[in-house]
Amino acid sequence: MSDFPRSLLEFQRRFPDERACASYLAKARWPDGFRCPACAHDKGWELSTKAFTWECASCGKQTSVTAGTVMHGSKLDLTVWFWAAYLMATHSNGMSARQLWRQLGLGSYKSAWLLCAKLRRAMVAPDRSPLQGVVEVDETTIPYRSNDDPPAGGRGRSHDGKILVAGAVEIEGRAPGRVRLAAIADGSAATLHAFIAANVSAGATVKTDGWPAYQGAPGVSHEPHVVGSMAAHLVLPWTHRLFANLKRWALGVYHGLRRGKHLQSYFNEFVFRFNRRKTRHAAFRSLLGIGATIKNSTYKMLTGPEATV
Ligand SMILES: [Zn+2]
Repeated sequence: MSDFPRSLLEFQRRFPDERACASYLAKARWPDGFRCPACAHDKGWELSTKAFTWECASCGKQTSVTAGTVMHGSKLDLTVWFWAAYLMATHSNGMSARQLWRQLGLGSYKSAWLLCAKLRRAMVAPDRSPLQGVVEVDETTIPYRSNDDPPAGGRGRSHDGKILVAGAVEIEGRAPGRVRLAAIADGSAATLHAFIAANVSAGATVKTDGWPAYQGAPGVSHEPHVVGSMAAHLVLPWTHRLFANLKRWALGVYHGLRRGKHLQSYFNEFVFRFNRRKTRHAAFRSLLGIGATIKNSTYKMLTGPEATV
């Protein structure tokens, strides 16, 4: 949509109140005008007694414009949701719950944290289709910390006190396309082949630094570039840039990542943001759970892995 706000001021003008947000949701749900999700009748009216709810003229079914979105049933104002999603989608480093709490003047840190957690759910599966064409694949280690520890140091493929991360970058001409990241247990062939199988299309060409474990990954052509570690950034420039950005982001936003069950969700957040760096509007809609695919004017809530088309 070309009218997506490009600045905070534009955003404020576009979504000044609950009514403006509700109209936007109605338009997203019914781009060609109201259509009943139960009987497909195209006549209905907005109820004056129930906020943001439409009633079908034929079967009487009532449909809220927030049904199926992350906002449904929430006590928070739609404007708060819209602001939070906009800040999260457009701020290049993202927003922590603490930042949202302050920026939006929310009542408690806990409600900011819950708001954040709900929006982040849309980031769970960064993309549906695997990477294609020529894909750089590499691994790196990043320091992790416990609550009390400073980040640990170290170099090379040994990874004591570090998180081992596999990354993949699709090459589109002279620029990076989409990316993927995953925490991995080790640098073995089994692990790296599984990473490639999960993230790279069959028939793609995988470009690596020649680490022997990459050899023989099924379904892809392998293009090893055996180099000394000093020149790796020349051979695999995009994965190196990806890892550098990831490390800077992890330090800047989270003061270093922690090992544990949330680790992959941090990677997913980074990947979500990276892959939508040129399509902030799509990111905004994905975060709010506004259906990315609207077929036959029937609004479909995408949940789970499909939620972030
Ligand atoms: Zn109906």
